Amino acid sequence: MFKIAIDGPSGAGKSSVAKALSKKMGIVYVDTGALYRTVGYYIRSVGADPKSAEQVTPHLKDINIEVKYENGTQCVYLNGENLGDKIREPEISMYASAVSAIPAVRAFLLETQKSVARSNNVVMDGRDIGTVILPDAEVKIFLTASVECRAKRRVLELK
Ligand code: C5P
Repeated sequence: MFKIAIDGPSGAGKSSVAKALSKKMGIVYVDTGALYRTVGYYIRSVGADPKSAEQVTPHLKDINIEVKYENGTQCVYLNGENLGDKIREPEISMYASAVSAIPAVRAFLLETQKSVARSNNVVMDGRDIGTVILPDAEVKIFLTASVECRAKRRVLELK
């Protein structure tokens, strides 16, 4: 299997580059942020504090995440439900960011990410991708941009 890893700070354009590569090369784009968003979505639904490892960790055993690729688009299923755009709400961004700082959550999502890369040619972006998730990637890119440019991209995306 062929793997491309893209790391770098938020707003640098990682997902735009990853999506373009996926289209051009006909390989799967794995949006790893969507997995953290899915955990954040579940944690919000049970009313736990996303910043508290003690509150979040016991819920991980009740979360089953499946990643499917339908017409080249990634669909994330949480306990059998396709969440679609529900994970794109700004409040879920906050939950995703908070739960992603909990080591047990990162460990929980590690195998899901690795298993997608075992069965598909992939381009993946996000924190830890080139070091932890795909240390043996054939191509590793670290993408960055000026703070102004990154902030501008995020504002446009939110709009
Ligand atoms: O990229 P996106 O905004 O969808 O990611 C949501 C959150 O998930 C990020 O703010 C980040 O905290 C977390 N994340 C991560 N590691 C990744 C991808 C996303 O910690 N590989």
